[in-house]
Amino acid sequence: MNAESIRTAAVIGAGTMGHGVAQVLAMAGITTRLFDIDEAGVQRGLANVAGNLDKGVARGKLTEEDAAASKARLSGTTEMAEAIAGVDVVIEAVPEIMALKKTIFAQLGEALGPDVLLATNTSSLPIAEIASAAKHPERVTGMHFFNPVHIMKLVEVVKTPLSSKDAIATSMDLARRFGKDPILVKDSPGFASSRLGLVIGLEAMRMLEGGVASAEDIDKAMVLGYGFPMGPLRLTDLVGLDVRLSIAEYLSGEIGAHFTPPQILRDMVARGELGKKSGKGFYDWSE
Ligand code: NAD
Repeated sequence: MNAESIRTAAVIGAGTMGHGVAQVLAMAGITTRLFDIDEAGVQRGLANVAGNLDKGVARGKLTEEDAAASKARLSGTTEMAEAIAGVDVVIEAVPEIMALKKTIFAQLGEALGPDVLLATNTSSLPIAEIASAAKHPERVTGMHFFNPVHIMKLVEVVKTPLSSKDAIATSMDLARRFGKDPILVKDSPGFASSRLGLVIGLEAMRMLEGGVASAEDIDKAMVLGYGFPMGPLRLTDLVGLDVRLSIAEYLSGEIGAHFTPPQILRDMVARGELGKKSGKGFYDWSE
């Protein structure tokens, strides 16, 4: 297993994250098959990649030749066997459901030899439990990408107690081959990014609840005072208040009371104020 020798890859799940992961694989010169159980999902994923690459050309970020070559390296399928035939690496990006991920890793573990790296893009589930479903769990790691995948520089590479040195090194090098700047994190709830990001987001909500300052000013404190690219409340609106609530509930059980969701968050989710996607969150997104 060696990142430089990776020629062929499969991505399982062609949604928000899967299509982005397929894009960075194809752009890194790797023949990539994008698999989804839903044909419309495959087509949408391929179209999203093509759209991103075209935008990249229009903005002068890549040449027309490079965009065309990346598109040519990418194909889509609804046949798992076709997707994974002869691959060196599989990156899974199906919905955040443990039973579903375990079924897929069991299937991949049976079908693929021990040298094939298997990575999951889960943002919160324990990787060791997913790995335990696969034959040769030592080749399983987490590769936690950020949305939009082709733009965000961070990949959290997550190691379980079972992950081999080889699998970890290959995952780190593969992320670098995508032009990313990976960090290595132990398999622990919230990894590094969600755990730290959420604590700031929840405290910002408590401050708003307590009337410390307006949403705009709380955000401005972090943007101007600490150099954050975006304030924690605006970021929560983009992520989705429902998504942040479910992660907070999970982490409060796993880590401690400082992740207990503030009442304001529960109330807003109950009212359907989910952030940008619903038109209203801490900010008004209706226009
Ligand atoms: P999504 O709902 O946009 O996409 C999931 C895709 O998986 C869908 O196209 C669906 O048809 C497909 N799918 C469902 N069952 C399948 C199966 N059995 N085999 C193959 N495909 C199947 O989800 P997403 O936002 O891309 O999230 C995927 C994973 O990435 C989750 O584990 C999530 O926690 C993680 N993640 C998401 C984000 C984010 O910002 N959305 C960021 C980092 C990590």
